[in-house]
Amino acid sequence: MKYLSTRGGINPIPFKETVLMGLAEDGGLILPERIPRVSSELLSRWQNLSYPELALEVMSLFIDDIPEEDLKDLIFRAYSTFSHPEICPVVKKGKLWILELFHGPTLAFKDIALQFLGNLFEYLLLERGAKLNILGATSGDTGSAAIYGVRGRKNINIFILFPHGRVSPVQALQMTTVPDENVFCLAIEGTFDDCQAIVKKIFGDLEFKKRYHLGAVNSINWARVLAQVVYYIWAYFRVSEAEEKERVRFSVPTGNFGDIFAGLVAKVMLGEGRIERLVLATNENDILTRFVNKGDYSLGQVTPTISPSMDIQIASNFERYLYYLYGEDPARVKDAMAGFSREGRLTFSAEELARVQEDFLSISVSQEETLATIASFYEETGYVLDPHTAVGVRAGLHFLNEWPMICLATAHPAKFPEAVKSAIGHEPERPEALRGLEDRPRREVVLPAETDKVKAFVAEHALV
Ligand SMILES: *Cc1c(COP(=O)(O)O)cnc(C)c1O
Repeated sequence: MKYLSTRGGINPIPFKETVLMGLAEDGGLILPERIPRVSSELLSRWQNLSYPELALEVMSLFIDDIPEEDLKDLIFRAYSTFSHPEICPVVKKGKLWILELFHGPTLAFKDIALQFLGNLFEYLLLERGAKLNILGATSGDTGSAAIYGVRGRKNINIFILFPHGRVSPVQALQMTTVPDENVFCLAIEGTFDDCQAIVKKIFGDLEFKKRYHLGAVNSINWARVLAQVVYYIWAYFRVSEAEEKERVRFSVPTGNFGDIFAGLVAKVMLGEGRIERLVLATNENDILTRFVNKGDYSLGQVTPTISPSMDIQIASNFERYLYYLYGEDPARVKDAMAGFSREGRLTFSAEELARVQEDFLSISVSQEETLATIASFYEETGYVLDPHTAVGVRAGLHFLNEWPMICLATAHPAKFPEAVKSAIGHEPERPEALRGLEDRPRREVVLPAETDKVKAFVAEHALV
């Protein structure tokens, strides 16, 4: 399998190169040259595999430049860090199925991709005798999942910037209590935007970037999307069998369009309408809902909400979908993205919109509705939802029909105790992974919001 760019500006590359490239060199996103279809025969052979076994089968269709034994080791080790024997259990609660994606070390679904990606980075660096210094800014989930993905790995250091005193206490503790010496938590005296601006400026200094082998924890890395395709197929098996139904729907709380794009890949792979539709659930930041319902993809202001990992306006993975919507025509994608940078909006024809609506249903869920959903779902089922999952559950209930609805639970509620408490009157129970966090030693460096100070710190502690 070879990979290409949505903007058509790179020669086809093998999988391993996509991992280290992240963003394509022409500014586009990387996609496989084709999405393999899964035959009914293959499907019945996959039906009863364990999660890591299934991951190996699915990923092998896209990866042909890593020996199978090695790939198996990378995958099995990645999911051995999960606390649930089924890795991603699917449980029925009321009328809905909940796909629990939060049993990894940081209790959010990003672990599913980043535990694997950490192994993959380490493997490729060792093979090439190379080193990598990961630099990123976080307002919460991504930073801790990235840190847990690479902590203790050889030939990798990670530097994560976050706004000092402005990330939730649980999330800050998750990052700063990691004892491994290759992890550097930089608490910046500023806002999240300051952190992002500093990271962007450092990456813009190409000489510095090269000298210190800087890399990003990109939410656009193809390997991350690929790892997420697996759980859609996994959940399809569990639920279609239990309900004796051939089709299912998924409801996905969406921010950067990465998770739901993985769902689309699974939809194409499975074919036959087995994934009948994907429900794209947004919070008040509804650019993607406006796109699905009205063909209007236009920038607005970012509104902070109680589901912060979905507070985005530009969905970085959206371009991947655009590539297919435009009939796999990279010249059109390139034009459209240039137009979007100029005007802050994209519009679509009635015919294109009709095709979008064959893939997606969408609704935007307000904070009030989110809290009300946490409360009513708890009352009816005794099950506690985190605010992101609740957005998806509210949307799933809205679009419930004759097909089973599988709602992705993207974070454990204990990561967002304040929001949960305001909905149900008490904090959710803390799972083992979060117990005693406050008592562990913390490792963080407080730095002013100045690019030069951060650069000096990175230069001093980077692997070279
Ligand atoms: C990142 C994240 C999301 C959004 O996922 P995307 O791939 O950006 O759409 C939703 N919920 C939680 C808890 C997250 O951490």
